[in-house]
Amino acid sequence: MRYISTRGGIQPISFKDAVMMGLATDGGLLLPESYPRVTERQLEEWRHLSYPELALQVISPFVDDIPAHDLKELIDRSYATFNHPEVTPVVRQNGVHILELFHGPTLAFKDVALQFLGNLFEYILAERGQQLNIVGATSGDTGSAAIHGVRGKKGITIFIMHPHGKTSPVQALQMTTVTDDNVHNIAIRGTFDDCQNMVKALFNDLAFKEKYCLGAVNSINWARVLAQVVYYAYAWLRATDTGRQPVSFSVPTGNFGDIFAGYVAKRIGVPIDMLVLATNENNILTRFVNNGDYSLAEVVATASPSMDIQLASNFERYLFHLYNEDPARVRKAFDELKEKGRISFSADEMERVRSDFRSASVDQGATLETIGSFYRETGYLLDPHTAVGVRAALDLIPAGTVRVCLATAHPAKFGEAVERAIAAPAPLPPAIAALENLPTRCEIMDADLEQVRQFFVSHVS
Ligand SMILES: *Cc1c(COP(=O)(O)O)cnc(C)c1O
Repeated sequence: MRYISTRGGIQPISFKDAVMMGLATDGGLLLPESYPRVTERQLEEWRHLSYPELALQVISPFVDDIPAHDLKELIDRSYATFNHPEVTPVVRQNGVHILELFHGPTLAFKDVALQFLGNLFEYILAERGQQLNIVGATSGDTGSAAIHGVRGKKGITIFIMHPHGKTSPVQALQMTTVTDDNVHNIAIRGTFDDCQNMVKALFNDLAFKEKYCLGAVNSINWARVLAQVVYYAYAWLRATDTGRQPVSFSVPTGNFGDIFAGYVAKRIGVPIDMLVLATNENNILTRFVNNGDYSLAEVVATASPSMDIQLASNFERYLFHLYNEDPARVRKAFDELKEKGRISFSADEMERVRSDFRSASVDQGATLETIGSFYRETGYLLDPHTAVGVRAALDLIPAGTVRVCLATAHPAKFGEAVERAIAAPAPLPPAIAALENLPTRCEIMDADLEQVRQFFVSHVS
């Protein structure tokens, strides 16, 4: 399988090169040249597989430059860190299926992709005799999942900046209790934007970037999307008994990575009916699906912070398909966005969009109300991101059909919102409670680029 860019500016490359490239060098995103198809018979054969066995089946057709035995070993190691034997179990509550994606090391769904990506990086770097220095800024979730994905890995050093005192206490501990030599937490006396701007400044210094082999871990890496396709197939197998019974999914959406993985799952032949794109008050994607209005607005802070995004980075992958794989159309759309702050779509295009997705925006009041009512009816606690998806599923997917809601975080990770919703503290899982007693390591600094650069240079691999 070869990979191409949505902007059409690179020659097709292999899977391993796509993993190492991350963002395409022409500014686009990487996608496979074509999608493999699973047959009905294969789907039935998959019913007996464990999660890692299924992952190998789903991922293999996209990877032709890693021997099967090595790929199997990478996948097995990536999911052995999950604390549930099923990795991503499906539980049934109140007429919906909940796909629990939060049993990894940081209790959020990003672990599913980043555990795999960390192992892939290590494998490819060792083979090529290369080093990688990952630099990133986080407001919480991605940073901790990235740190846990690469801790202790050979050839990789990671530097993650977070705004000092401005992440949730659990999120801070999930980062700073990782004391492996190759992990550097930097708490910046400033905002998330200060952190982000310093990361951008380091990457924009091309000589510096080259000299120190700088890399990023954002949601644009193809391997992350690919790892996420697996659990759509897994959930379909768990939520159906037999045959090609279709299932609908509801996905709390931020950067469009997770729901794009659902779109890929449908394209490879997993029997998916509706894909519900659920947003919070930051609802540009809902306005797009429902009204063809793709226009940027200000980001609003909500109870589901990992979805507080306007420009969804993975959206470009979908646009490429919507434009029948024509990179010139993609470039034109982004020119329009830059000039006018919006992209316009034809009636035909919107018809296709609405056959691919349904969408609803769920505000903070409705989110907390959903956590409360779901808890009263079932005793099951939803995290605020998951609750956005559950509310959208109940509103848009007919009862009596198979509805799967992606549970993207453990409720204890967002304890404050949960406590407000149910007027009682969210119970702490042992993994989180134990963090309180672990040693921590973290460098606290001013938002001063030179100081950060100095620290980086004296700690790179
Ligand atoms: C990142 C994240 C999301 C959004 O996922 P995308 O792939 O960015 O759309 C939703 N919920 C939680 C808990 C997250 O961490």
